[in-house]
Amino acid sequence: MVISSNLGYPRIGPNRELKWSLESFWKKEINETKLLEDISRIKKDNWIIQKKSGIQHVPSNDFSLYDHVLDTCLVVNAIPDRYKRLKNKKNFLNLYFAMARGFQSGSIDIKAMEMTKWFDTNYHYIVPEFKNNQKFKLASTKIIDEFLEAKSFGILTRPVILGPLSFLYLGKSISNKFNKFNLLSKIIPIYKEIFTKLKKYGAEWIQVDEPILSLDLDKSFKNKFISTYDKLVKQSPKILLTSYFANVYPNYDVLRKVNVSGIHFDLINLETKYLTKILANFPKNKFFSAGIINGRNIWKNNLSKSIEIIKQIRRKINFERIMIAPSCSLLHSPIDLNKEDKIDLNIKSWLSFANQKLDEIAFLKKYFNSNLLQNSKFLSQNVKANKQRRNSKLIHNQKVKNKIKSISSRLLNRKNKYANRQEIQSKLNLPLFPTTTIGSFPQTKSVRKARLKFKRKEISKNTYEKFLKSETKKAIKFQEKIGMDVLVHGEFERNDMVEYFGEQLHGFIFTKFGWVQSYGSRCVKPPIIYGDINRNTPMTIKWSKYAQSLTKKIVKGMLTGPVTILQWSFVRDDQSRELTCKQIALALREEVLDLEKMGLKIIQIDEPALREGLPLRKSDWNSYLNWAIDSFKIASSSVKDETQIHTHMCYGEFDDILDSIEKLDADVISIETSRSNMELLDSFKIYKYPNSIGPGVYDIHSPRVPTINEMKDLLNKAQKYIDKEKLWVNPDCGLKTRGWPEVKQSLKSMVLVAKSLR
Ligand code: GLN
Ligand code: ZN
Repeated sequence: MVISSNLGYPRIGPNRELKWSLESFWKKEINETKLLEDISRIKKDNWIIQKKSGIQHVPSNDFSLYDHVLDTCLVVNAIPDRYKRLKNKKNFLNLYFAMARGFQSGSIDIKAMEMTKWFDTNYHYIVPEFKNNQKFKLASTKIIDEFLEAKSFGILTRPVILGPLSFLYLGKSISNKFNKFNLLSKIIPIYKEIFTKLKKYGAEWIQVDEPILSLDLDKSFKNKFISTYDKLVKQSPKILLTSYFANVYPNYDVLRKVNVSGIHFDLINLETKYLTKILANFPKNKFFSAGIINGRNIWKNNLSKSIEIIKQIRRKINFERIMIAPSCSLLHSPIDLNKEDKIDLNIKSWLSFANQKLDEIAFLKKYFNSNLLQNSKFLSQNVKANKQRRNSKLIHNQKVKNKIKSISSRLLNRKNKYANRQEIQSKLNLPLFPTTTIGSFPQTKSVRKARLKFKRKEISKNTYEKFLKSETKKAIKFQEKIGMDVLVHGEFERNDMVEYFGEQLHGFIFTKFGWVQSYGSRCVKPPIIYGDINRNTPMTIKWSKYAQSLTKKIVKGMLTGPVTILQWSFVRDDQSRELTCKQIALALREEVLDLEKMGLKIIQIDEPALREGLPLRKSDWNSYLNWAIDSFKIASSSVKDETQIHTHMCYGEFDDILDSIEKLDADVISIETSRSNMELLDSFKIYKYPNSIGPGVYDIHSPRVPTINEMKDLLNKAQKYIDKEKLWVNPDCGLKTRGWPEVKQSLKSMVLVAKSLR
């Protein structure tokens, strides 16, 4: 009998209950007891729904109050020294949330731990910190408690834990010259202790996640998997070793030798040829977990295809040792499609969220375990929906397909080289060290309230737009008053930098409840790209034109770039990401040309997600970068030489893709640097960036107002590596999360600094 299994279920609750409880708790509106009650209910509901769906291996400890990597820090007592004063048995949550979010009270001000992206997803984890003389001990029994909690409801779960090698790998050493992997021998005993306890309490299986197996690992490091798990298996429940997100084949030589009971494969990221190779020498005594349902998208599975793949697996692997599972945890899927009552019914029939994915897994299990389902309605409906989707008029737009075919080098390049353009653009009459901002101004309560009222039809379009106009006008007047050189309209009309464009482009739909956790209580609701993308009407012209009409100074047009729109959406699985990205690029190109026609002299195309789109394996970088760069160039290159193209990037280190950034050939890039004290600029010592650049002079992520001197220092440092003729002065990123008081002060100082340097 094949086994149905799940690797993890969304934590946020069907109505984002986790978010509301956490935020009320942080605001001290509810107490700890209430918070714990709330989350017990979420966990219980999650277990029950999975069980009811027909999942046999239901996970536990996949839930987290904030983040599972942070949970693991607490399990092994990897608590950075700065939090030690908050350690107090009775007040565990105080410590936990201080590590996640920082702690301020009276004169105490402790910084949060660093947060970074979980592999190539939009989930963020807390980065563990290790010091030279790091000690570990078993300090949290959450995994055992949750196992017993589920057991008390009659559900024998498969507890999940982040494996020791991935845990160390994802952390950072804070002492110099110390290899964090030396801690392995110290941390293994803690894992052993947990595994032994779980066995004692009756766990049959434990799921150990080692997602780093999806990365490029060198041989000697890979071998640590063998020695580590040799030590862990004794007196342990059966171990299912999982990895996901990329082709695991390059590490399979070692993986197959690891002493565990089962191995999970992300089949969505494994080409058939590698699956065949893996099956050819898969160890006889191990379970094979087939991650066949995509845990990261929202499309209905192609069940007929999955059936064929499972048949292929069955030919090589004993029936009793096959598990059917999602490719990765369902943490990355929205929860329930059934709640969506506004989506076009055709499109809805093509979709599958977490709960529907569970049904697909359960169906496949039943299909293989009995003969009854060969002609089932579930299957025939699935086949029908997929066929209907393939041929649907909603998806295919011949006009767009023709445009894609006509992309030529003419579309990919500016008319002249940057050096010539720079000369031509001197007509813009900008001073040395021109000042600007990244685009958005504070999205104050009143801005958000007006948008909500408009959405709920409580105010008319006219009233809403009048309000937006008055906000825009205030922003323009403020920028003029402080002497900013290149102005922005402020983006008050935008809810979100991707949603705003998706809502106006053909080929996107939006869900009402399709939330996915980003970090802690934060969730995002990515748009779904279902069809060929087409721009029917201008998207930003009205606001840019209005803003420009208010001032003699230059106003920048402001667009979100194709790669970022792609990266922050659920995308089609019936064509390549490259093709979808280029379709978006063509639509943006039309917008850019219209902005130019309307008289905008500078147009900014933001690509904050360019870096995060990089594939996990280096061997895949080139191909991604090639089409990502081409997409940006399709969107930006058709303008006249006198039109200045800006781009903006943030979130991440850019040192290793500087040559790609250069290839974008934007006239000006504004880039995040201030948080790292302009460390990025060190790479410019060796690497001569040819076009203009505005390294962010202050961090917009906190309300702190930067001092004149610190901005001056940064700019002086920048001048060592960048010709002053090419240096711009701007903050790190958009200002929408800030309040006006600090924005006003900060920008005034920033302009003063630029003036003094002139
Ligand atoms: N133009 C956008 C803004 O200012 C850019 C946001 C971003 O980089 N994430 O808000
Ligand atoms: Zn930014």
